[in-house]
Amino acid sequence: MTNNPFLEIDRLIVGDIYTSNEVQDNLLVLCDGLGSRFAGSPEEKEAAEFMAGKLSEYGLPVVGLEAITYTGWKRGEVRLEIVEPVQRTIPCITLPHSPPVDLTADIVDVGDGSPATFAAKADELRGKFAFTNSVTFPQGSRRWVHRHEKYNRAMLAGAAGFIFVNHYPGFGPATGSIGPDDPYSGEALIPGISVSMENGAYIQRLLKQHGRVRLHLTSSDEYFPATSWNVIAEQPGQLENAGVVMLGCHYDGHDIAQGAADPMSGAVALMDAARVLTAYAPPLPHTIRFALWSAEEIGLLGSTQYVIDHDADLDKIRFYLNMDMAGAISPKDIVLNVWPELERPFSEYRDQMALTFGIGQSLNAHSDHYPFMLAGVPTGGIGSLEVNTSGRGYGHTMFDTVDKVERRGMREAAALSARLALRMAADDGWPAGRRSQTAVQAVLDSPEYREEQEFNAQVKAYLAANTQ
Ligand SMILES: [Zn+2]
Repeated sequence: MTNNPFLEIDRLIVGDIYTSNEVQDNLLVLCDGLGSRFAGSPEEKEAAEFMAGKLSEYGLPVVGLEAITYTGWKRGEVRLEIVEPVQRTIPCITLPHSPPVDLTADIVDVGDGSPATFAAKADELRGKFAFTNSVTFPQGSRRWVHRHEKYNRAMLAGAAGFIFVNHYPGFGPATGSIGPDDPYSGEALIPGISVSMENGAYIQRLLKQHGRVRLHLTSSDEYFPATSWNVIAEQPGQLENAGVVMLGCHYDGHDIAQGAADPMSGAVALMDAARVLTAYAPPLPHTIRFALWSAEEIGLLGSTQYVIDHDADLDKIRFYLNMDMAGAISPKDIVLNVWPELERPFSEYRDQMALTFGIGQSLNAHSDHYPFMLAGVPTGGIGSLEVNTSGRGYGHTMFDTVDKVERRGMREAAALSARLALRMAADDGWPAGRRSQTAVQAVLDSPEYREEQEFNAQVKAYLAANTQ
């Protein structure tokens, strides 16, 4: 028998979550009602106001919106035609940040887009469309090679455009930002588009038969001065110098979808954790802060801005738990971003809670934990320890809709995050604190992340030399 000092509160929290329909009700309002909530859209603002209203209704004493301003991007018309060896129009979408273009060029197939293939075909790529796909672990690569890296490798090779073929059949094109490294200047240097697996395969057959495929792309996407809003709420701690336990999840989706699994299954779980903690937790020594981030999908803009604006306050953060799509992740483990000293408290909490989730260490740059991690804050997230090498599935396609998300998953994420936050905010022996920048660099310089880091430095230098 493990002693659980929070047994009574756990019963109230878990019992309420599993007998309430709040997660599903909020999911429907935010996805069916407000659609994609794309960064900079009126629906994103409406979603922020709805969520802030809910958090106030739940009784959180501090709820506010924090504005971020940046260069937004808006989809226009797009047309992709094969002009040689046949004449045919192919359905496609532009990727967020893609500039408006009128461009005719041949394609060069770079397969799954491994760094080695890009290097081998660097000379051929100049002035052409780099043609690759969404396979996450290209042949010969032992890490996730993100869309953004493939795009940047095309750009550095002097390609005129980037074509991203979804590698899943039946899901249409897959979207995702190709934004520049400076997240606030919106314009990507070369256009990026996505086509379905089936149309990608057709283009490859033409290439194989005729040795050459020439495409004509016209697009009319726009940039505009945009404002988005982070929703920040908290339950203040009792100590004079209270630490802060933070739960965070973005709420903006991609404009082609409802963004139901990614991110909303996590955002509504976070809101429900806020609801039950406010209802049942006693006054705690440390603060629990809830963050619903805007504009994540186009470059982690909301969380990045928060880390800049609240630098003086970051020393107080005991832990930031990222919940991006947490309601749809299975199994739900705790993935720490290289904080071995935190395995002990999390495994003690797990025993107290009579749960069996995994606890492991990993790092990636592609959600809202990353700006915190770079600033030295102890971070982790609800994720799966099994390495997913297959990819996003329906994620980032028009089929990320409400029907994919199960109540069970949202409730599980809500209960897990609420019970962990309760324990972290009550713990008087928390073993982690903010890292120095030297220590952050040491983590990033480890063999596992070095290739990506070195490449990011090249991209930064290239952009500095090629943009004004
Ligand atoms: Zn997400």
